[in-house]
Amino acid sequence: MSLPLQNKIALVTGASRGIGAAIAVKLSKKGALVIGTATSAKGAKIVEQTFELNKLSGVGMVLDVNDNTSINELIKNIITQHGEINILINNAGITKDTLLMRMKDEDWDVVINTNLKSVYKLSQSVIKGMMKNRYGRIINISSVVGHMGNAGQTNYSATKAGITGFTKSLAQEIGNRGITVNCVAPGFIDTDMTRALTEEQRNLLLGHIPLSRLGSPNDVANAVVFLATDDSGYITGETIHVNGGMLMV
Ligand code: NAP
Repeated sequence: MSLPLQNKIALVTGASRGIGAAIAVKLSKKGALVIGTATSAKGAKIVEQTFELNKLSGVGMVLDVNDNTSINELIKNIITQHGEINILINNAGITKDTLLMRMKDEDWDVVINTNLKSVYKLSQSVIKGMMKNRYGRIINISSVVGHMGNAGQTNYSATKAGITGFTKSLAQEIGNRGITVNCVAPGFIDTDMTRALTEEQRNLLLGHIPLSRLGSPNDVANAVVFLATDDSGYITGETIHVNGGMLMV
């Protein structure tokens, strides 16, 4: 029996760790040829080792989403070596948290560019091939804070709310070509990004999560896999919230 993503080529940005690594492994287990990216050659090797450890085949490549040349080279290499990209997961993201009063232009710009401009650039780079094939899946990793806000994260939450609007608009532009565009909005997930929280902050947070635990990268990856397969073929412009119930929309 063939796997649901057999013969599909998937690109996962920021696959060296955390949520992106879990997504890359799960898509690969469903049969896709997955290209996972990291910002360094060492990170790209880690991506490949993760596939090997799970007895899967996949490719690690270098990508800095803030560098247009890096994006163009990545897409060109994938297309020449493997074929057109069918599934794009815009996962790479960073935080530079501080109160607006203290925020520097650099903190604003780097978060907007890494989290939001990257989604525009990468989506634009893959849709031509998807439109030609009359098939595609674009899945953007937004965040619960793009829906509820979070003090100290004006820059980050602006990017995540922006991704939601981008997703709905692009879904309307290219739906008639068989391409769906959706978001997965994680709550607080146990990764490097949230490990900086103090014990006190963690406990406070848990008090607001009905399921009484932080999420795991696999919790998010499961929703992404659903949106990547034909099971979700009539869903577009949507957000799946994976947050343990901390925000019910
Ligand atoms: P993470 O563990 O910090 O990993 C971030 C990933 O992004 C890494 O693979 C990193 O690559 C990559 N990356 C960073 N800057 C990049 C750049 N300039 N170009 C290309 N790749 C870059 O983060 P995570 O917690 O897994 O988060 C993944 C996504 O989920 C992000 O979009 C984040 O905003 C979102 N999210 C996370 C949470 C959470 O609680 N963790 C909640 C809501 C949403 P290197 O390893 O090479 O640095």
